[in-house]
Amino acid sequence: MIGQGTWNIEKTSAPEAVKTLRRGIHLGMTHIDTAEMYGSGEAEGIVGEALRGLRERVFLVSKVLPGNATETGTIAACEKSLARLGTDRLDCYLLHWRGRHPLEGTVRAFEKLQAEGKILSWGVSNFDVEDLEELNRLAPRGRVVCNQVLYHLEERAIEHAVIPWCETHDVAVVAYSPFGSGSFPKPESKCGRVLRQLAEAHGANPRQIALSFLTRRPAVFAIPKAAQAGHAAENASAGDLKLTPEEISSIEAAFPLGRRPRSLPMI
Ligand code: NAP
Repeated sequence: MIGQGTWNIEKTSAPEAVKTLRRGIHLGMTHIDTAEMYGSGEAEGIVGEALRGLRERVFLVSKVLPGNATETGTIAACEKSLARLGTDRLDCYLLHWRGRHPLEGTVRAFEKLQAEGKILSWGVSNFDVEDLEELNRLAPRGRVVCNQVLYHLEERAIEHAVIPWCETHDVAVVAYSPFGSGSFPKPESKCGRVLRQLAEAHGANPRQIALSFLTRRPAVFAIPKAAQAGHAAENASAGDLKLTPEEISSIEAAFPLGRRPRSLPMI
């Protein structure tokens, strides 16, 4: 349920980043998320390095930028990603967010790439329910495997409609920025104290509590990014932590859901 994100990983020295990703894989965080956008391809290069000798153990995901997402553009972008990653296939390929190109062309490209074995499945990112409905009308049945969306303790908007829609349609939800992309609740804040108390009760730390909370529904995965090996190890062990219904309620109370926003929040 816990994987590894790679946005900005190229800002860490390559050997350190590679070491961290490999440690995470050995500890069971085998879902690796990257994108052609990250460091303009540099992150994919680092992931490729980290995958040497470990490719078979990994569920590898990359994304096409909306500006490239025409039928021919998607195919060309995928081939460049495969070259940077040093692999012959992606386990899943996503449209990073919806752009100006019609979805039909992107879907045709995904289907072609899948038929050729260059991708084993495909999905989307930052899609609200209306976009998912539209996509569902275009895509062959059962083909959309996941929707990668923003989800952390202080941004629970996807609980209103996106998660229920995905659960009904058997589409996995991949929670990105599970630690608020660097703005995690401060330990001394009121909400931070709730997390700390729960962490103490479990012999864990607040981020592990957050990951366990976010992945409490079977349809939801999380992909924290860690460039430090110690962080990766902590994140990996969150997979074993189980919160009680009372503990889940106390987190829900500390980080209220709020109203459904007009449009899906994204970063
Ligand atoms: P994030 O995972 O919420 O937070 C990353 C930050 O948390 C980094 O500063 C990291 O530090 C720190 N961290 C990680 N584990 C920690 C631990 N155990 N203890 C303390 N600090 C820890 O942020 P994110 O990178 O925005 O999101 C995760 C991934 O989601 C991305 O990398 C990317 O793959 C994906 N994403 C997708 C989209 C999309 O539009 N589809 C958008 C944003 C993100 P260190 O790096 O120093 O270890």
